[in-house]
Amino acid sequence: MKTFGYTIQNDRQIDFDAADKKLYRYVAEKEPDINLCIFCGTCTATCSAAEFKNMSFRKISLFLRRGLTENLKREIESCMFCGKCTLVCPRGINTRNIIFNIRKGIEEYEF
Ligand code: SF4
Ligand code: SF4
Repeated sequence: MKTFGYTIQNDRQIDFDAADKKLYRYVAEKEPDINLCIFCGTCTATCSAAEFKNMSFRKISLFLRRGLTENLKREIESCMFCGKCTLVCPRGINTRNIIFNIRKGIEEYEF
């Protein structure tokens, strides 16, 4: 078949209405500041674990909003709870406590 150099890409649109928000609601109840995240990535730039692993709090925040729990589990594994991300966040979000509550929520809901 002739392709003319073009291929059809899979749709990357995110359906936020279809996302499972159970874990997000659980975390937002304990730490409402999660709603203030603007995904700027300042936390990721300073992350101690990011130097050794492909880890990012920005991604954690996105996965949580999108209900991508499997990706979230993989991402938080590398966190050392050092709290550096909390110190630099321009929105003053307690990122460390958010990661702590994600872990608690995953245990509680047995995702
Ligand atoms: S630094 Fe704060 S606002 Fe920026 S992505 Fe990280 S948690 Fe969100
Ligand atoms: S608390 Fe976790 S996410 Fe934040 S800087 Fe430390 S290792 Fe990175």
